[in-house]
Amino acid sequence: MEKKEKKRRGWDEYFMDIAELVATRATCNRGSDLKYVPGFKGVGAVIVRDRTVLSSGYNGSPRGLDHCDDIGHEMVEGHCIRTVHAEANALVQAAKNGIMIDGGALYTTASPCYDCFKMLINSGIKRIVCGAFYGSRYGASDKVVGLAAQAGVQMEFLRADKAPDQLDLPEPKPEEKETETVKSLLLSSNLKIKKLHPMAKVPDYAHEGDAGLDLYASEGASIPTGQREKIKTGISMEIPDGYVGLIWDRGGVPVKKGLKTMGGVIDSGYRGEVIVPVVNVSGENVEVMQGEKIAQIIIQPFEQVEVEETDGLGESARGEDAFGSSDELVESEELVELEEEAAIKEEEPTIDEITKALSNAPALSKESKGFSEPLSRMGGSEAQERRKNENRGRW
Ligand SMILES: [Zn+2]
Ligand SMILES: [Zn+2]
Repeated sequence: MEKKEKKRRGWDEYFMDIAELVATRATCNRGSDLKYVPGFKGVGAVIVRDRTVLSSGYNGSPRGLDHCDDIGHEMVEGHCIRTVHAEANALVQAAKNGIMIDGGALYTTASPCYDCFKMLINSGIKRIVCGAFYGSRYGASDKVVGLAAQAGVQMEFLRADKAPDQLDLPEPKPEEKETETVKSLLLSSNLKIKKLHPMAKVPDYAHEGDAGLDLYASEGASIPTGQREKIKTGISMEIPDGYVGLIWDRGGVPVKKGLKTMGGVIDSGYRGEVIVPVVNVSGENVEVMQGEKIAQIIIQPFEQVEVEETDGLGESARGEDAFGSSDELVESEELVELEEEAAIKEEEPTIDEITKALSNAPALSKESKGFSEPLSRMGGSEAQERRKNENRGRW
């Protein structure tokens, strides 16, 4: 009789499978993707010692209190605080039943937040096996991984496809081919997107017919008023030849919060992470949440021109009367029109706010100088002129 070869599950896989199953009871869907319920998120954890499951927990509301799934999340600074985390619930269950977990291991479908991590250390857990990287409050999850060794805790990521190679967002490795594509009707080839960070979101069009793809923050950030911050998207892209990606402000949340995108041109040859430089012109601190729409990128064709130096330019009706460096306004019809247009299009933040914010900002880095320095140095009327100029180019 032929014997079928049966491959048994390894212990780590086995316990992680159990943790994944436990996660299906979660009542707040703000964790990592669940293997057993496609499209649903949650976190599950099991505590194991001597190859025996001692306790389990999933992220859910305290007993008797309302569930997120029923009444919505309880959001504070970008995080739902209603639930007890899976790891904490596993600890609590052991405590409640008087089970000794000292020296044990914890399997969790998403890496622990800083709070849970601290409790795990003090509970005597010596090994933490994580299914996915969870970027929790203010990026403190990165800290957790960094502190594990110091605390004498062995920390591992079991499912390599979900684990970060390094936590400081590595440059893409050429041999990796995990790319996603954004389909296009016009481009001869699709826009290829590669995730560099496990929590990164692939850019997408919010509505049919939108010009720009939404870009999402891959980690949270706290931006003091008047300060600049480079918001990471956790993705890199391969823009087809002959096309360029232009980063623009996005209406909605970023504008309401007073975040101004400081421009960005993504050339087709660039394969590094897409970073969105922003300045906080709101007058108060702004929190950017992980997964939040932060800007948009418009992919469009361009042409390169032959540059030719010459002594004389062709004549035009306007000649050299333009947005000069003097303070005298040029009273042409066109300018008045532009002025009116600018007044109509005026949206917060105003140029004064930007100028004020930029003058409060620390010395600007070389890369961002081009945009911000001239504005911060300009006087009011000059800045107005500049704005007209910009509006002109824009609309
Ligand atoms: Zn929730
Ligand atoms: Zn936690």
